[in-house]
Amino acid sequence: MTGSVDASVRMATTDVQRTGLLVDGELVGASDGGTFETLNPATEEVLGLAADGTAADLDAAVAAARRAFDTTGWATDPAFRARCLRQLRDAMQSHADELRELTIAEVGAPRFLTAGAQLDAPVADLGWVADLVESYEWQTDLGTASPMGVPSHRWALREPVGVVGAITPWNFPHQINLAKVGAALGAGCTVVLKPPPDTPWCAAAVARLAAEETDLPPGVLNVVTSSDHALGAQLAADPRVDLVSFTGSTATGRKVMAAAAETLTRVFLELGGKSAFIVLDDADLAAACSLAAFTAVTHAGQGCALTTRLLVPRARYDEAVEATAATMAMLGPGDPQDPGTVCGPVISARQRDRIEGYLRLAVEEGGAFATGGGRPADRGRGFWIEPTLVTGLDNTARVAREEIFGPVLVAIPHDGDDDAVAVANDSPYGLSGAVHSADPERAWAVARRVRTGTMSVNGGVWYGGDVPFGGYKQSGIGRESGRQGFEEHLETKVVAEPAVIGEPEVRR
Ligand code: NAD
Repeated sequence: MTGSVDASVRMATTDVQRTGLLVDGELVGASDGGTFETLNPATEEVLGLAADGTAADLDAAVAAARRAFDTTGWATDPAFRARCLRQLRDAMQSHADELRELTIAEVGAPRFLTAGAQLDAPVADLGWVADLVESYEWQTDLGTASPMGVPSHRWALREPVGVVGAITPWNFPHQINLAKVGAALGAGCTVVLKPPPDTPWCAAAVARLAAEETDLPPGVLNVVTSSDHALGAQLAADPRVDLVSFTGSTATGRKVMAAAAETLTRVFLELGGKSAFIVLDDADLAAACSLAAFTAVTHAGQGCALTTRLLVPRARYDEAVEATAATMAMLGPGDPQDPGTVCGPVISARQRDRIEGYLRLAVEEGGAFATGGGRPADRGRGFWIEPTLVTGLDNTARVAREEIFGPVLVAIPHDGDDDAVAVANDSPYGLSGAVHSADPERAWAVARRVRTGTMSVNGGVWYGGDVPFGGYKQSGIGRESGRQGFEEHLETKVVAEPAVIGEPEVRR
């Protein structure tokens, strides 16, 4: 890191250690004074300290969210909520420069991604939610009917579900924190956000700006950073929480669902993926493989929806491997500060070791590497994995079935459209995917048959705050973002009153 970046990150995080938590409207430290270190994954440098929230801090945050929901007018004032969301957007945009440096330093996110999903896009999307809050039909007139002989006028009311416990991962912290917080607040819920231990500062920055630069009432948004995963379990099991909104691994999602089952709390789960990039036999192979390589190594493969299985025509397997490997080899890894870097570091030593375990497994399973296969020789400290293309395995291999969450792509041959669809669907996951063909109709036909929450046809980009995102099968339950994601945070209440037939209907 350069000296100027250091200074900017320090500025952005001044006092995070003393005041990193937001509980009931107050920026505070952990109640026992505890802190933990935040590392730069590109250098292993200690960036500083974050507040290490305790079980008691989380308990206080849930109590505050409960009180704010039950005893204030937040839930019934959409215009005020839209204003607060725009204030948060504006505050984050006016601090975009320091937030950008913080995100690159803490997450290892390549700089180019901060102009999109790592920062600017999710911040701007708070405005989309605010617009939806203002235009939303909160009450629908269902008209009159005479069920069981009682003439009645019926209305359907959409109401916020209540207190939302939001539990998030480290890979796209602003994207995921803001998608959850924005939709929940817009819907009229109150929130306790529990970010992961790896990226506390991104969440602490939202807490600080919400407290200092918005009119959000005390208790409406609470943020508890912690080194302790147990706080996530505590939040999922708390009976005062009405909806657990979780993004993370499928293994943890299962635990969240089990904990929430005790109190029949609603869950909304965004989980892992092992998505297929399908190249049909009439596609421009070089162009498609180049895009597949780029997608697989972006942010060192640390994206749930990135395509990590490359399905290519058997007759052109060697040609596809050569083209893909050539692009992957060109793409890094590099310093995330550099605007040209696509593949930065992985988040931690633990993740690097886990990925290396999968690379060993690929060899044990009989696979080979067309490029990559380990740590790069030319990088110093930091957590680095080379973009790696695994060949020689079919879809039954563990490395083709399990989520690796690194810059690792597995090339698998297919025998035509039906077989490609069958292989794509032969996965416990169903999060995303892509298909390439010279014939858009043929590509669409394949896209319709793949059981997955998002599909890119011939390079189309589905990402956006107005787009519902989520998974089939073990990739999750429910959708984040878009109108559908917003509605995850709503309950429906029907109210009926007697109607007098022949008299004008009452308006409510
Ligand atoms: P993780 O499951 O280890 O942790 C996610 C969050 O859960 C963290 O805040 C963690 O502290 C918390 N947690 C840990 N144990 C818990 C428990 N028992 N109960 C409740 N909460 C608990 O995931 P990660 O390693 O931080 O993130 C990577 C994973 O996230 C990948 O599997 C990736 O696919 C997934 N992900 C999914 C999406 C999506 O939208 N589908 C988006 C991004 C990441």
